[in-house]
Amino acid sequence: MIIVLRPDATEEQIQHLVDLISEKGLRAHLSRGTERTIIGCIGDESKIQDIPFLAIPGVESAMPILEPYKLASKSFHPEKSRFPVGNVTVGGDEIVVVAGPCSVEPNQTLFETARAVKKAGAKILRGGAFKPRTSPYDFCGLGEEGLRMLDEARQETGLPIVTEVMDTREVELVYRYADAFQIGARNAQNFNLLREVGKYDKPVFLKRGMSMTIKELLMSAEYIISQGNPHVVLVERGIRTFETATRNTLDIAAVPVLQHKSHLPVFVDPSHAAGDWRYVTKLACAAVACGADGLMIEVHPNPERAFSDGAQSLKFEKFEMLMQTIRPIAEAVGRFVAEGA
Ligand code: PEP
Ligand code: MN
Repeated sequence: MIIVLRPDATEEQIQHLVDLISEKGLRAHLSRGTERTIIGCIGDESKIQDIPFLAIPGVESAMPILEPYKLASKSFHPEKSRFPVGNVTVGGDEIVVVAGPCSVEPNQTLFETARAVKKAGAKILRGGAFKPRTSPYDFCGLGEEGLRMLDEARQETGLPIVTEVMDTREVELVYRYADAFQIGARNAQNFNLLREVGKYDKPVFLKRGMSMTIKELLMSAEYIISQGNPHVVLVERGIRTFETATRNTLDIAAVPVLQHKSHLPVFVDPSHAAGDWRYVTKLACAAVACGADGLMIEVHPNPERAFSDGAQSLKFEKFEMLMQTIRPIAEAVGRFVAEGA
């Protein structure tokens, strides 16, 4: 159930409604827009069905949220969500590019890449310290040492960092270093992990699981938001289909569908969708044209030597070209991509 308040509703009237809802054992989530405030009632709605909301001062309308996801839905929060990731705002007119190597490696890769992507206009640095690998014998990341290196790269470049957290036991550790959590495709329905990052006050980049429907992705976002953390970025990164020419099939339609159903920013990761550097720029162009709020791109100075995902990683000059290519497309759809610094 959502209760839309009149623009002139007073704080006392709002608090009265919150108390009424809470007394019945439901949670009242306030969404304060520029125009008006909406209260989302989360819990067993049968307990509040007899409350005559329309007769209560300050209330304009009350209606059920039909979707199974509530706090992630547009009905609850009609305006687009916009929030900071470190010193960068996502969900605004700027198309924010997150870039960096797949893994933080025990060499200079992260630092060289951080400088190069910043110069090309990327606003957030990525790099995995905890890597979900298909084989347990592959490089699984540097753990806390990788987080320390990310911190150093942030200090040097000023770029905020996003890095994957794989385990509930490591959330606190990752929180200490990162500006934002990443939940990987393989953990996108790890409900305990989703709940855990939902208890923290840093944004979460939630990748779509490789076999997840759009509705399931929004339900995963709901797990995070329901714990109190509203700052979720949805990331389309390709799904498994019968097609094998690309690593995953980029579901470009997910961008407008998610933006229609949800207020959360929607990013596209063309690197993991393509699996091949040759297709990454084209898919990035499609994502920008389609209205994506940001991109996540894997970049490496020497992809043949990358510890993970070399085949899909762009060399510095290719990444620079990608940034040049997407700028006019962003402008054509009323957005912009920052110049390099
Ligand atoms: C990654 O970003 O390096 C990664 C492992 O992505 P995904 O979870 O989308 O496969
Ligand atoms: Mn990767």
